[in-house]
Amino acid sequence: MPTKHAVLSASSSYRWLACPPSAKECAKLPDTSSEFARQGTDAHTLCEFKVKTALGQKLEDPTKSLTYFDEEMAECTDEYAQFVMECLAAAKVSCKDPLIMIEQRLDFSKWVPGGFGTGDCLIVADDTLTVIDYKHGLGVLVDAEKNPQMMCYALGALNLFDGIYDIRRVSMTIFQPRRDNVSTCTMSKEELLQWAETVLKPAAELAAKGEGEYKAGDHCRFCKIKATCRKRAEYNLELARYDFAVPSTLQDEEIEA
Ligand code: SF4
Repeated sequence: MPTKHAVLSASSSYRWLACPPSAKECAKLPDTSSEFARQGTDAHTLCEFKVKTALGQKLEDPTKSLTYFDEEMAECTDEYAQFVMECLAAAKVSCKDPLIMIEQRLDFSKWVPGGFGTGDCLIVADDTLTVIDYKHGLGVLVDAEKNPQMMCYALGALNLFDGIYDIRRVSMTIFQPRRDNVSTCTMSKEELLQWAETVLKPAAELAAKGEGEYKAGDHCRFCKIKATCRKRAEYNLELARYDFAVPSTLQDEEIEA
């Protein structure tokens, strides 16, 4: 199913930060959405419904319209809604009227050309901004520590709220129930802004122009051109050479033989 994504999306930032020209290379190919991605979309729809319902909103239950709904999805999204409500309750301990936003569009184009995304849940309580992202995937355990997708979302949220609130700290949490993973990274606003100016913005500018160095690595698994990329082929060959490197001197067992 063709879909439309920002060329420099937050979700692909892990890749284009490491290999800036990959952004334009990937943009040349049509967007396709996998079954896993569609499953994730259904789970997000249910998460949104459950959290908003827990917050007291009256909404129509979307379950019947979901293609991938199953018992596990029901449980995971319940857990997520409960987690969000616990975070909100914790925020209320120090702030009598925290702000919570669900499925909020976040614009971080100040640092990344055309950069936007959707934050699953934002909580602003006095000087702390909390960003929570639900991951339905099982394949990759997602760590919040210095996670560029979360940092882009946090920048988008800062863009919305800084000035209205005196935010000093940003807390970013990945909630990945199918892996029993709740991962949180907290940093100061200054640290986040420094990363945005010195790492994110320069890489995004290169990526937007299709410039910068091709660099292969773990991030290639998320690249649409990985099957035909010369840099990746060279990298894999190098790894293979390393794996099969034969020592220049005979080993004891070889001498014995
Ligand atoms: S496969 Fe890897 S090295 Fe090649 S363009 Fe994609 S991210 Fe860059």
